[in-house]
Amino acid sequence: MIIIMKQEATEAEVAEVVREVEQTGFRPFINPGVERKVIALLGEVDIDKVQLVDHFSVLDGVERVQLISEPYKLASRHTHPEPLKITLGLQPDAERVTIGGTELVVMAGPCSVESEAQIVGTARAVKAAGATLLRGGAFKPRSSPHSFQGLGLEGLKLLAAARAATGLPVVTEIMDPHDLDVVCRYADVLQIGARNMQNFSLLRYVGETRHPVLLKRGPGAKIADFLLAAEYVLNGGNLQVMLCERGIITFENATRYTTDINAVPVLKKQTHLPVVIDPSHATGDAEYVPSVAMAGIAAGADGLIIEVHPDPAAALSDGKQSLRPVRFATLMDQLRRLAPVVNRTLADGCTQ
Ligand code: PEP
Ligand code: MN
Repeated sequence: MIIIMKQEATEAEVAEVVREVEQTGFRPFINPGVERKVIALLGEVDIDKVQLVDHFSVLDGVERVQLISEPYKLASRHTHPEPLKITLGLQPDAERVTIGGTELVVMAGPCSVESEAQIVGTARAVKAAGATLLRGGAFKPRSSPHSFQGLGLEGLKLLAAARAATGLPVVTEIMDPHDLDVVCRYADVLQIGARNMQNFSLLRYVGETRHPVLLKRGPGAKIADFLLAAEYVLNGGNLQVMLCERGIITFENATRYTTDINAVPVLKKQTHLPVVIDPSHATGDAEYVPSVAMAGIAAGADGLIIEVHPDPAAALSDGKQSLRPVRFATLMDQLRRLAPVVNRTLADGCTQ
């Protein structure tokens, strides 16, 4: 249930409604920063909801009360009607970037951080092409324990060096709550990988931080489960969550996964949270990445996350799907031409 307050409702009226909600046993949640206050009722209380609607409807300052059927209350667009804008770049030496507005945000960089030359060089190249965030994994979720697992803390330090050199905010994966403090010290955005989308304890811990989150969809997760995973983070009070579609499992095996392009308009309808497309993991093949990146933006995504490596053949992970910097720059030019068609803009790149 949500209580939509009148635009002119006073603080005292909102406070009174909050008190009434608390008395019923529900936990009231007021969405901050929204013009018209919407109060969501959270929790499970055995009470006649229809009667409650009548009760709240007549309180001063209340415009209307709505029963919402979605199990994800905080992620629901009903609770937050306007699209959410998130400012990224919380480390002191990071540039500030906003996602969720008209400007498209492109996050680019290697799958894994491998060396200083690799990450700083790639950061410079993607920045020159117009990317506004640097991606790079320091803790890597690999199918095999024998594969490269990432440089860990050393990788985080190299990401910080790349940020210092370019100003690009850094997005990197958090796999284990034990690493949360150290990853928060270095990262601007916490990535939760596809395999951890339903790692509920990790979601809870990340929900206690105030770091923006890039939550990737599990390859076998329905959109409703994806939104419920986001709900875990939001429920901890961390309201800055971006959703990333990175391909789902279907019967098709011509590509690594299948990009669920439908998810973009569906998510935009269901939630206010920004939506990002990852064409690299979705296709698994650099040849298909540009087409799917463009499809994602055409469908209404707020941003992209793309793997770029200076020497894909030598990459320690995901080389096959990584673009070379020159191909990435060409894609950025293509996206710059596409963006106005969907009422978007893209940061300028300098010619390399
Ligand atoms: C990655 O971003 O490198 C990654 C491992 O992605 P996913 O969790 O989507 O597989
Ligand atoms: Mn990868």
